[in-house]
Amino acid sequence: MESAEVARRFLGFFQERGHTVVPSASLIAEDPTLLLVNAGMVPFKPYFLGQRTPPSVRMTSAQKCVRTPDIEEVGKTTRHATFFQMLGNFSIGDYFKEGAIPFAWELLTRPTADGGFGFPEERLWVTVYHDDDEAAGIWHKNVGVPMERIQRRGLADNYWHMGVPGPGGPCSEIYYDRGAEYGREGGPVVDEDRYLEVWNLVFMQSQLSEVRSKIDFDVAGDLPAKNIDTGMGLERMATVLQGVDNIYETDTLWRVLDRAAELTGSKYGRDHRDDVSLRVVADHVRSGTMMVADGVRPGNEGRGYVLRRILRRSIRNLRLLGGEDAGLMHELTAVAVAAMGEQYPELVRTAANIHTVIDAEEAGFLQTLNTGTAIFDQAVAESRKAGRSALAGDQAFKLHDTYGFPIDLTLEMASEQGLQVDEEGFRRLMKEQRERAKKDAREKKTGNLDVSVLDELLGRTGGAVDFIGYGEVVGEA
Ligand code: ATP
Ligand code: MG
Ligand code: MG
Ligand code: MG
Repeated sequence: MESAEVARRFLGFFQERGHTVVPSASLIAEDPTLLLVNAGMVPFKPYFLGQRTPPSVRMTSAQKCVRTPDIEEVGKTTRHATFFQMLGNFSIGDYFKEGAIPFAWELLTRPTADGGFGFPEERLWVTVYHDDDEAAGIWHKNVGVPMERIQRRGLADNYWHMGVPGPGGPCSEIYYDRGAEYGREGGPVVDEDRYLEVWNLVFMQSQLSEVRSKIDFDVAGDLPAKNIDTGMGLERMATVLQGVDNIYETDTLWRVLDRAAELTGSKYGRDHRDDVSLRVVADHVRSGTMMVADGVRPGNEGRGYVLRRILRRSIRNLRLLGGEDAGLMHELTAVAVAAMGEQYPELVRTAANIHTVIDAEEAGFLQTLNTGTAIFDQAVAESRKAGRSALAGDQAFKLHDTYGFPIDLTLEMASEQGLQVDEEGFRRLMKEQRERAKKDAREKKTGNLDVSVLDELLGRTGGAVDFIGYGEVVGEA
């Protein structure tokens, strides 16, 4: 079953059951607490919070998502992409657990000839929040899932929130058992490839006022109503339905991967490190293409930096595969546009624009790499010679300051060489430089008068944050 068909079936199923089909919102989140949309429910947040009246109490969508925190997993696990599509059905105070659980079961197990996904019942495992007897009861009594395939888990796994203040609630995840060739039996409690999480049903009922981490947050109270928010991973469903090993081998991503192998003269399935690079390229090129199409532009902060990092990682991985030529990104972007064009016709219409942005970023970055790589190699050689296991902070600083090497690039390249980086030293030098710059600016404005005392009185001394290479505030569950 093609990826596009997975979306059609999902939306069709819920439309037949009274849900209004809502088009995907842009990846650029309207919600000021998020850089990029990271879940299907994001555009519906005001409805859950009771701030806006929904067009319908039952809705369904296929939402474009980007999860930056998953970037390190890409290519290494079988199931994480930076860009993916989340299929969802939503109830705003309409049905709750007793409606959502049987809907999910019916869609997953109904024969494909009959509009479903045709999963054999015995392949499905579910988890519920540890004290959610209600959900466990519905799975067991109403749906007929045997108790041994219903597992209970704690906050870290079975409580969903956006990673920022907003709605949240206990959830129930559905896993597909890929069989003995993928690992040992025992259910999804072991985070291995055998059990693939395909769908998460969230029972949205609480309002979170503060979120410090996945498991550390404050609940301010109940939402105006009990709601349903579900998220099914389109790429993960396609993995199962297409009988492939991982999401990067599904129809759309495969086209980019395959072309990347061809263009770099590498071969998928021969060498583990090359395979990881090819998967990273496939994911990142598609992700970059989708972000640019939605209006994100490469930059040094916020979502612009996320995009820049994704495009640069694609280029670096192409080089690791032996592809050094300018223009590779152009070729691969064209493949991503064609592959995603069926679902997103606007990509085809705006392809020229997308190319302009990505080509320019490629040209700029190749220049950076060409001048900086020799300096980087020299720094590595010096560290090795001195018997150090880390690149010195001043070397990382020089790479950044003189050659435009972002610190995360230095970190990544160093780790490929089995080296660490003295990040603390780097940060100290960055701070010193910032302070110098501030002082210069002040002296320009005021002659040589030292106004730092005045600044302090006015509370102006908080350092500007210009480093958000990783750990951006993008929540996920
Ligand atoms: P995982 O535990 O595998 O990281 P998750 O629990 O973080 O997934 P949810 O927040 O529950 O994911 O998102 C709902 C669904 O979206 C998941 O069940 C999965 O099918 C899909 N999904 C989540 N993250 C990704 C990703 N990085 N790439 C592809 N699909 C994803
Ligand atoms: Mg999970
Ligand atoms: Mg989940
Ligand atoms: Mg996750």
